[in-house]
Amino acid sequence: MTTVAKYSELRLVNTKGMFMQAMEDRYAIPAYNFNNMEQLQAIIMGCSESRSPVILQCSGGAIKYMNPTLLRSMVKGAVEMMADLHGHVPVALHLDHGDSFELCRSCIDSGFSSVMIDGSHHSFEANSGLTKKVVDYAHVRDVTVEGELGVLSGVEDEVSSELSHYTKPSEVEEFVARTSVDSLAISIGTSHGAYKFKLRPGEEPPSLRFDILEEIERRIPGFPIVLHGASTVMPEYVAMINKFGGKMEEAVGIPEEQLRRAARSAVCKINIDSDGRLAITATIRKVFAEKPGEFDPRKYLGPARDELIKMIKYKNEHVLGSAGRA
Ligand SMILES: [Zn+2]
Repeated sequence: MTTVAKYSELRLVNTKGMFMQAMEDRYAIPAYNFNNMEQLQAIIMGCSESRSPVILQCSGGAIKYMNPTLLRSMVKGAVEMMADLHGHVPVALHLDHGDSFELCRSCIDSGFSSVMIDGSHHSFEANSGLTKKVVDYAHVRDVTVEGELGVLSGVEDEVSSELSHYTKPSEVEEFVARTSVDSLAISIGTSHGAYKFKLRPGEEPPSLRFDILEEIERRIPGFPIVLHGASTVMPEYVAMINKFGGKMEEAVGIPEEQLRRAARSAVCKINIDSDGRLAITATIRKVFAEKPGEFDPRKYLGPARDELIKMIKYKNEHVLGSAGRA
Protein backbone atom coordinates (compact mmCIF):
# COMPACT_ATOMS: atom_id res chain seq x y z
CA MET A 1 0.00 0.00 0.00
CA THR A 2 1.32 3.42 -0.91
CA THR A 3 0.40 6.21 1.46
CA VAL A 4 0.06 9.79 0.21
CA ALA A 5 3.55 11.20 -0.07
CA LYS A 6 4.24 13.67 2.71
CA TYR A 7 6.30 15.82 0.36
CA SER A 8 3.36 16.42 -1.98
CA GLU A 9 2.22 19.01 0.61
CA LEU A 10 5.37 20.93 -0.28
CA ARG A 11 4.82 20.41 -4.03
CA LEU A 12 8.14 18.60 -4.35
CA VAL A 13 8.85 15.64 -6.60
CA ASN A 14 11.05 12.63 -5.99
CA THR A 15 14.07 12.04 -8.23
CA LYS A 16 12.66 9.19 -10.34
CA GLY A 17 11.36 11.21 -13.30
CA MET A 18 14.33 13.59 -13.17
CA PHE A 19 16.83 10.74 -13.44
CA MET A 20 14.91 8.97 -16.18
CA GLN A 21 15.01 12.13 -18.30
CA ALA A 22 18.66 12.81 -17.46
CA MET A 23 19.62 9.26 -18.40
CA GLU A 24 17.77 9.43 -21.69
CA ASP A 25 19.10 12.83 -22.74
CA ARG A 26 22.62 12.38 -21.33
CA TYR A 27 22.96 15.16 -18.78
CA ALA A 28 23.14 15.36 -14.97
CA ILE A 29 20.76 16.92 -12.45
CA PRO A 30 22.49 19.40 -10.13
CA ALA A 31 22.23 18.78 -6.39
CA TYR A 32 23.13 22.03 -4.63
CA ASN A 33 23.66 22.05 -0.87
CA PHE A 34 22.27 24.90 1.17
CA ASN A 35 22.32 26.06 4.81
CA ASN A 36 20.62 29.45 4.70
CA MET A 37 18.16 31.69 2.93
CA GLU A 38 20.58 33.32 0.51
CA GLN A 39 21.85 29.97 -0.77
CA LEU A 40 18.29 28.71 -1.19
CA GLN A 41 17.23 31.88 -3.02
CA ALA A 42 20.24 31.60 -5.31
CA ILE A 43 19.51 27.96 -6.16
CA ILE A 44 15.88 28.77 -7.00
CA MET A 45 16.78 31.85 -9.04
CA GLY A 46 19.72 30.23 -10.82
CA CYS A 47 17.72 27.14 -11.75
CA SER A 48 14.56 29.00 -12.74
CA GLU A 49 16.58 31.37 -14.95
CA SER A 50 18.38 28.46 -16.59
CA ARG A 51 15.24 26.24 -16.64
CA SER A 52 17.05 23.41 -14.88
CA PRO A 53 15.42 20.72 -12.75
CA VAL A 54 17.06 20.82 -9.34
CA ILE A 55 17.72 18.82 -6.20
CA LEU A 56 17.88 20.92 -3.04
CA GLN A 57 20.19 19.10 -0.73
CA CYS A 58 20.88 19.31 3.02
CA SER A 59 23.10 17.26 5.28
CA GLY A 60 22.07 16.34 8.82
CA GLY A 61 24.32 19.17 9.99
CA ALA A 62 22.56 21.66 7.71
CA ILE A 63 19.15 20.57 9.00
CA LYS A 64 20.30 21.15 12.58
CA TYR A 65 21.82 24.50 11.62
CA MET A 66 18.60 25.74 10.00
CA ASN A 67 16.17 24.01 12.42
CA PRO A 68 13.95 21.31 10.86
CA THR A 69 10.71 23.26 11.31
CA LEU A 70 12.09 26.40 9.72
CA LEU A 71 13.68 24.34 6.94
CA ARG A 72 10.34 22.81 6.02
CA SER A 73 8.72 26.23 5.65
CA MET A 74 11.72 27.62 3.78
CA VAL A 75 11.51 24.80 1.24
CA LYS A 76 7.74 25.22 0.90
CA GLY A 77 8.34 28.89 0.18
CA ALA A 78 11.18 28.09 -2.20
CA VAL A 79 8.98 25.80 -4.30
CA GLU A 80 6.26 28.47 -4.41
CA MET A 81 8.86 31.04 -5.41
CA MET A 82 9.99 28.72 -8.21
CA ALA A 83 6.39 28.35 -9.42
CA ASP A 84 6.01 32.16 -9.44
CA LEU A 85 9.19 32.57 -11.46
CA HIS A 86 8.74 29.65 -13.83
CA GLY A 87 5.96 27.14 -13.32
CA HIS A 88 7.43 23.93 -14.62
CA VAL A 89 10.78 23.43 -12.93
CA PRO A 90 10.73 20.22 -10.84
CA VAL A 91 12.27 20.53 -7.37
CA ALA A 92 13.29 17.65 -5.09
CA LEU A 93 14.45 17.90 -1.46
CA HIS A 94 17.15 15.39 -0.65
CA LEU A 95 18.95 14.36 2.55
CA ASP A 96 22.69 14.27 1.89
CA HIS A 97 24.67 11.58 3.76
CA GLY A 98 21.96 10.22 6.04
CA ASP A 99 23.92 8.13 8.54
CA SER A 100 21.10 6.25 10.26
CA PHE A 101 17.67 4.79 9.59
CA GLU A 102 16.24 7.18 12.21
CA LEU A 103 17.52 10.32 10.45
CA CYS A 104 16.20 9.09 7.09
CA ARG A 105 12.83 8.28 8.63
CA SER A 106 12.49 11.67 10.30
CA CYS A 107 13.36 13.43 7.02
CA ILE A 108 10.84 11.34 5.08
CA ASP A 109 8.19 12.08 7.72
CA SER A 110 8.86 15.82 7.56
CA GLY A 111 8.59 16.11 3.77
CA PHE A 112 11.87 15.16 2.08
CA SER A 113 11.20 13.57 -1.31
CA SER A 114 14.53 11.74 -1.47
CA VAL A 115 17.12 10.53 1.03
CA MET A 116 20.63 9.21 0.94
CA ILE A 117 21.56 6.43 3.33
CA ASP A 118 25.33 6.34 3.49
CA GLY A 119 26.35 2.94 4.75
CA SER A 120 29.58 3.02 2.78
CA HIS A 121 31.74 2.82 5.90
CA HIS A 122 30.12 -0.47 6.92
CA SER A 123 30.75 -3.94 5.54
CA PHE A 124 28.88 -4.89 2.36
CA GLU A 125 26.44 -6.96 4.45
CA ALA A 126 25.70 -4.19 6.94
CA ASN A 127 25.52 -1.52 4.22
CA SER A 128 23.04 -3.48 2.13
CA GLY A 129 20.95 -4.38 5.21
CA LEU A 130 20.74 -0.76 6.39
CA THR A 131 20.04 0.52 2.88
CA LYS A 132 17.27 -2.04 2.39
CA LYS A 133 15.65 -1.01 5.67
CA VAL A 134 15.55 2.65 4.52
CA VAL A 135 14.29 1.67 1.06
CA ASP A 136 11.43 -0.35 2.59
CA TYR A 137 10.34 2.64 4.67
CA ALA A 138 10.82 5.14 1.81
CA HIS A 139 9.26 3.33 -1.11
CA VAL A 140 5.80 2.93 0.42
CA ARG A 141 5.89 6.69 0.88
CA ASP A 142 7.03 7.26 -2.71
CA VAL A 143 10.40 8.64 -1.59
CA THR A 144 13.52 7.77 -3.60
CA VAL A 145 16.71 6.48 -1.97
CA GLU A 146 20.38 6.94 -2.86
CA GLY A 147 22.86 4.38 -1.54
CA GLU A 148 26.66 4.42 -1.63
CA LEU A 149 29.29 1.84 -2.42
CA GLY A 150 32.95 2.77 -2.08
CA VAL A 151 34.41 5.48 0.17
CA LEU A 152 35.36 9.03 -0.81
CA SER A 153 38.16 10.80 0.99
CA GLY A 154 37.93 14.35 2.28
CA VAL A 155 35.81 16.25 4.78
CA GLU A 156 32.20 17.35 4.39
CA ASP A 157 30.19 18.41 7.44
CA GLU A 158 30.34 15.38 9.74
CA VAL A 159 31.44 13.08 6.94
CA SER A 160 35.17 12.56 6.77
CA SER A 161 37.56 9.89 5.69
CA GLU A 162 41.32 9.80 5.34
CA LEU A 163 41.32 6.99 2.85
CA SER A 164 39.29 6.44 -0.25
CA HIS A 165 38.28 3.09 -1.65
CA TYR A 166 37.12 2.90 -5.22
CA THR A 167 33.77 1.25 -5.77
CA LYS A 168 34.19 -2.41 -6.68
CA PRO A 169 32.16 -2.96 -9.86
CA SER A 170 31.73 -6.64 -8.90
CA GLU A 171 29.54 -5.54 -5.95
CA VAL A 172 27.08 -3.23 -7.66
CA GLU A 173 24.62 -5.75 -9.16
CA GLU A 174 24.26 -7.59 -5.88
CA PHE A 175 23.86 -4.33 -3.93
CA VAL A 176 21.19 -2.95 -6.25
CA ALA A 177 19.34 -6.28 -6.36
CA ARG A 178 19.40 -6.73 -2.58
CA THR A 179 18.38 -3.18 -1.68
CA SER A 180 16.11 -1.98 -4.55
CA VAL A 181 17.82 1.39 -4.12
CA ASP A 182 16.97 4.06 -6.76
CA SER A 183 20.45 5.47 -7.36
CA LEU A 184 24.00 4.73 -6.35
CA ALA A 185 26.80 7.06 -5.28
CA ILE A 186 30.14 5.66 -6.37
CA SER A 187 33.77 6.44 -5.69
CA ILE A 188 35.89 6.92 -8.84
CA GLY A 189 38.36 9.53 -7.62
CA THR A 190 36.23 12.50 -6.57
CA SER A 191 36.54 13.63 -2.94
CA HIS A 192 34.82 15.94 -0.50
CA GLY A 193 35.96 19.46 0.31
CA ALA A 194 38.15 22.09 -1.35
CA TYR A 195 41.47 20.22 -1.13
CA LYS A 196 40.88 17.25 -3.36
CA PHE A 197 44.45 16.54 -4.45
CA LYS A 198 47.94 17.35 -3.21
CA LEU A 199 49.67 18.58 -6.35
CA ARG A 200 53.23 19.68 -7.01
CA PRO A 201 53.58 23.00 -8.87
CA GLY A 202 52.46 22.56 -12.47
CA GLU A 203 51.04 19.10 -11.85
CA GLU A 204 47.57 18.29 -13.22
CA PRO A 205 44.90 16.60 -11.06
CA PRO A 206 44.69 12.84 -11.77
CA SER A 207 41.87 11.65 -14.01
CA LEU A 208 38.69 10.19 -12.59
CA ARG A 209 38.51 6.40 -13.02
CA PHE A 210 36.22 6.31 -16.03
CA ASP A 211 37.16 2.67 -16.50
CA ILE A 212 35.42 1.84 -13.21
CA LEU A 213 32.39 3.93 -14.20
CA GLU A 214 32.16 2.14 -17.56
CA GLU A 215 32.38 -1.26 -15.91
CA ILE A 216 29.59 -0.28 -13.51
CA GLU A 217 27.45 0.97 -16.44
CA ARG A 218 28.00 -2.33 -18.20
CA ARG A 219 26.87 -4.31 -15.15
CA ILE A 220 23.79 -2.20 -14.30
CA PRO A 221 22.79 -0.55 -17.59
CA GLY A 222 20.47 2.46 -17.32
CA PHE A 223 20.88 2.68 -13.53
CA PRO A 224 21.32 6.25 -12.16
CA ILE A 225 24.80 6.93 -10.79
CA VAL A 226 25.66 9.81 -8.44
CA LEU A 227 28.93 11.72 -8.04
CA HIS A 228 29.75 13.28 -4.69
CA GLY A 229 32.70 15.59 -4.08
CA ALA A 230 32.37 16.95 -7.60
CA SER A 231 33.16 20.63 -7.18
CA THR A 232 35.73 22.04 -9.58
CA VAL A 233 36.99 24.30 -6.74
CA MET A 234 36.75 27.18 -9.19
CA PRO A 235 40.21 28.82 -9.39
CA GLU A 236 38.78 32.34 -9.82
CA TYR A 237 37.13 32.09 -6.38
CA VAL A 238 40.20 30.59 -4.73
CA ALA A 239 42.27 33.45 -6.22
CA MET A 240 39.78 36.04 -4.96
CA ILE A 241 39.79 34.53 -1.47
CA ASN A 242 43.59 34.58 -1.36
CA LYS A 243 43.73 38.12 -2.77
CA PHE A 244 41.35 39.51 -0.16
CA GLY A 245 42.97 38.13 2.98
CA GLY A 246 41.98 34.47 2.88
CA LYS A 247 44.30 31.52 2.95
CA MET A 248 43.38 28.62 0.66
CA GLU A 249 46.57 28.26 -1.34
CA GLU A 250 46.38 24.58 -2.16
CA ALA A 251 42.68 24.25 -2.90
CA VAL A 252 42.06 22.18 -6.03
CA GLY A 253 39.10 20.28 -7.51
CA ILE A 254 37.86 18.11 -10.35
CA PRO A 255 38.55 19.53 -13.83
CA GLU A 256 35.38 20.66 -15.58
CA GLU A 257 35.98 18.57 -18.67
CA GLN A 258 35.91 15.40 -16.59
CA LEU A 259 32.59 16.40 -15.05
CA ARG A 260 31.17 17.09 -18.53
CA ARG A 261 32.22 13.63 -19.57
CA ALA A 262 30.64 12.11 -16.44
CA ALA A 263 27.40 14.05 -17.01
CA ARG A 264 27.06 12.49 -20.47
CA SER A 265 27.35 8.99 -18.96
CA ALA A 266 25.08 7.15 -16.51
CA VAL A 267 25.91 9.83 -13.93
CA CYS A 268 22.50 11.47 -13.36
CA LYS A 269 23.23 13.55 -10.25
CA ILE A 270 26.27 15.69 -9.51
CA ASN A 271 26.65 17.16 -6.02
CA ILE A 272 27.96 20.70 -5.69
CA ASP A 273 28.68 22.14 -2.28
CA SER A 274 32.25 23.48 -2.03
CA ASP A 275 32.01 25.68 -5.14
CA GLY A 276 28.96 27.44 -3.70
CA ARG A 277 30.78 28.04 -0.41
CA LEU A 278 33.75 29.47 -2.29
CA ALA A 279 31.58 31.84 -4.38
CA ILE A 280 30.00 33.23 -1.22
CA THR A 281 33.23 33.53 0.75
CA ALA A 282 35.14 35.14 -2.12
CA THR A 283 32.45 37.77 -2.64
CA ILE A 284 32.07 38.61 1.04
CA ARG A 285 35.85 38.95 1.42
CA LYS A 286 35.94 41.30 -1.56
CA VAL A 287 33.19 43.53 -0.15
CA PHE A 288 34.84 43.62 3.29
CA ALA A 289 38.21 44.47 1.77
CA GLU A 290 36.90 47.18 -0.57
CA LYS A 291 34.25 48.68 1.75
CA PRO A 292 35.51 48.23 5.31
CA GLY A 293 32.80 50.54 6.63
CA GLU A 294 29.96 48.35 5.38
CA PHE A 295 27.89 46.73 8.12
CA ASP A 296 24.49 46.06 6.53
CA PRO A 297 24.38 42.27 5.94
CA ARG A 298 22.36 42.80 2.75
CA LYS A 299 25.31 44.69 1.28
CA TYR A 300 27.57 41.65 1.43
CA LEU A 301 25.14 38.74 1.49
CA GLY A 302 23.30 40.25 -1.49
CA PRO A 303 26.38 40.34 -3.76
CA ALA A 304 27.33 36.85 -2.50
CA ARG A 305 23.90 35.61 -3.51
CA ASP A 306 24.22 37.24 -6.94
CA GLU A 307 27.59 35.54 -7.48
CA LEU A 308 26.10 32.18 -6.48
CA ILE A 309 23.26 32.64 -9.00
CA LYS A 310 25.87 33.30 -11.68
CA MET A 311 27.82 30.19 -10.69
CA ILE A 312 24.74 27.98 -10.68
CA LYS A 313 23.66 29.16 -14.13
CA TYR A 314 27.17 28.51 -15.42
CA LYS A 315 27.27 24.98 -13.96
CA ASN A 316 23.82 24.08 -15.29
CA GLU A 317 24.60 25.36 -18.75
CA HIS A 318 28.27 24.53 -19.27
CA VAL A 319 29.09 21.60 -16.98
CA LEU A 320 26.00 19.50 -16.20
CA GLY A 321 23.96 20.16 -19.33
CA SER A 322 20.76 20.51 -17.26
CA ALA A 323 19.90 24.04 -18.50
CA GLY A 324 16.81 24.26 -20.69
CA ARG A 325 15.53 20.84 -19.62
CA ALA A 326 12.53 22.10 -17.62
ZN1 LIG B 1 28.99 13.61 -0.31
